[in-house]
Amino acid sequence: MRERGISKRIINVSNRLPVQVGRTITKSSGGLVSALEGVADRCDLHWIGWTGEVAEDAAERRRVREQLAGMNYAPVFLDAQTADDYYLGFANSSTWPLLHYMTMYAEFEDRWERAYVRANEAFAEAVADVARDGDLVWVHDYHLMLLPSMLKRRNQRLKVGFFLHTPFPSFEVFRGHPSRELLLRGLLGADLIGFHTFGYLRHFRSSLLRILGLDSEVDSVVHDGYESRMGVYPIGINAPAFVKALETEAFAEQLAEYEGVYEGKRLVLSVERMDYTKGIPRKLAAIEQFLENHPDERQTTTFVIIAVPSREGVEQYQQLIEEVEHAIGRINGAYSTMTHVPIHFVHRGVAFHELCALYRRADAALVTPLMDGMNLVAKEYVACQGDDPGVLILSETAGAAQELSNAWMVNPYHVQGVAEAIHGALRVGRWQRRSWIAPMRDRVLEQDAAWWANRFLDDLDRTDPVARMVMTTKPLTPEAVEPFRARAGRKALFLDYDGTLTELVRDPEAAAPGAALLETLEALIGREDLRVFVVSGRDHHFLDKHLGHLPLTLVGEHGYTVREPGEGWRLFNEQVDLSWKDKVRDIFELYAETTPGSSVEVKTSAIVWHYRKSDPEFGKWKAAELVGELMESISNLPVGLHQGKMIVEVSSQQVSKGEALRAYLQAGRFDRVLAIGDDQTDETMFALRADAVVTVKVGLGDTNAEYRVGSPAQVRKVLADIARGGA
Ligand code: UDP
Repeated sequence: MRERGISKRIINVSNRLPVQVGRTITKSSGGLVSALEGVADRCDLHWIGWTGEVAEDAAERRRVREQLAGMNYAPVFLDAQTADDYYLGFANSSTWPLLHYMTMYAEFEDRWERAYVRANEAFAEAVADVARDGDLVWVHDYHLMLLPSMLKRRNQRLKVGFFLHTPFPSFEVFRGHPSRELLLRGLLGADLIGFHTFGYLRHFRSSLLRILGLDSEVDSVVHDGYESRMGVYPIGINAPAFVKALETEAFAEQLAEYEGVYEGKRLVLSVERMDYTKGIPRKLAAIEQFLENHPDERQTTTFVIIAVPSREGVEQYQQLIEEVEHAIGRINGAYSTMTHVPIHFVHRGVAFHELCALYRRADAALVTPLMDGMNLVAKEYVACQGDDPGVLILSETAGAAQELSNAWMVNPYHVQGVAEAIHGALRVGRWQRRSWIAPMRDRVLEQDAAWWANRFLDDLDRTDPVARMVMTTKPLTPEAVEPFRARAGRKALFLDYDGTLTELVRDPEAAAPGAALLETLEALIGREDLRVFVVSGRDHHFLDKHLGHLPLTLVGEHGYTVREPGEGWRLFNEQVDLSWKDKVRDIFELYAETTPGSSVEVKTSAIVWHYRKSDPEFGKWKAAELVGELMESISNLPVGLHQGKMIVEVSSQQVSKGEALRAYLQAGRFDRVLAIGDDQTDETMFALRADAVVTVKVGLGDTNAEYRVGSPAQVRKVLADIARGGA
């Protein structure tokens, strides 16, 4: 985008529009606004979001819409109930606490999930009104986790990016969200998913694996035929605004005033929203501990705590206010003298020049969130330091800790440790403080909000929504099917059963053929020029039960047994040597015993170790170990080793679906064969690469087949078409 100039359209979507809607509309500022100001001059920027107001009246909505249109803003309107359930409920009472590891605060209501879906749909519609093919749509944060998929369903050609401004927690925590699958699938609609730190990305991948069963690479995940890329983009501060503010008269005057007020005092500053993730009660406990441990510093240390009101509609936030006010009252009551109050508590926002002056004056910043996606206050403090800088005391659990490596790191849960960090930080010499701050300051001024937005949007622009469809094979064409529809020649259909003719189901016994499928098979069998083979891993009991009444050829157990029409079951190859089975079974059973959730399946000509129900990472590791062990012990046996989806299989080399197909081809009975299958055992047919065989893979995944169809339903459609063809 940087190179391509201003032609690109960017549609930014966040929960709130950066405006206050009243009788007139005023722009508000914030990190995201400043980030996007840094790219606005290079592109055509549109912004979509909720106004924060509940406008029920159509005329009022029209008025707001028209006023905002001039600013390239499009409002999303939510009715009162949806707004409450989506915003206060699902987003802030369920999802926010969980994303920040605060499971004890997380509450869930099914009604909230429905409102979340409704609200995300309303956003999707608003985007659809504005977006055109090729536009970059940038979706922000935990309020809109379903939006990427909703947008992609409407228009494949949008480039959709998603950035999560919070942490992404460990799987063990995220699994507690009743909507965990919905949220992950929602996000996967994005072409690019961004996080503040590598740790969050790592946790996200772990949830993909453990909740959706999706394996991923460090920077990408393939799902449903698409690839989503993932990356780490730590957000920065609005650097130009701070640089400018530090040069203003208002700042200088304010700083001079603070120098006077706090003369002779060491000032320790805290700035944060009044949010339980910020760890304010524990910070107060650390301050109390510090005051208790260091009586000689009580008179000379002032703690300024600025807590900006936040989400007061959520109950836990009300409780937090009470707890904080109570603790401050207690500490000030205990340690105040006639001339000194230890804690100055300001429960409101302060003006920008005041904030800058406080940052500059403070001898230390006490930034001790329990968990924080990034924490801009830490970076802003660093940016505002001058010749005689202070010390940044920073939680190792803030995203910012990944970048601000010269901060005085603390564990915010360790109250005694934080108390001693305050003590230590106030004793650091000037030279040391300068050497700590300087490189961090360079970094936060350089890698600022605009830098962050540019990096994300450049990467998003580089994605290619069409190319990310990872179809290496061609979709099955009518031309490929035509020879089977036509009456001429001797033809055969080799059809796998599970996952090809019928959908895969949880209970394998329940995979019965539907009436329509049976009708199609009968019609195919009825054609003189066509022979039908069902080639399956199932045994003769199952095949007899469901298909035995039809005059077709059944090949069971992956080619071990066969039943020609009107005959009984027999071995496909009488010479097969299966004497290796006991030895292999012993090895497999050892692994089943030591890998919880795994099991051994003994088939006629194969033995399979399944670990689908095991911990995926442990299972994978044990599978690799098992393969290593097998390699040594089976090298002289007439068997093949195969590692598939959550399985390790040892099977007779003399038996496979491919061997069965080869035998029929060698007998020269067909001019043309259509082979269709969905899994690894069908690859033995595809791998023959015989000219006479047209190969079709069902569903995703690597394959040797030439063509691909999406689902068993599509296979049935193709077969019905063939059945009708020559009629
Ligand atoms: N801030 C503000 N008004 C104030 C004090 C702070 O707008 O009175 C700003 C502060 O400058 C920072 C933001 O609020 O940019 C807080 O961002 P942070 O990442 O630290 O925490 P968040 O509130 O996003 O969890």
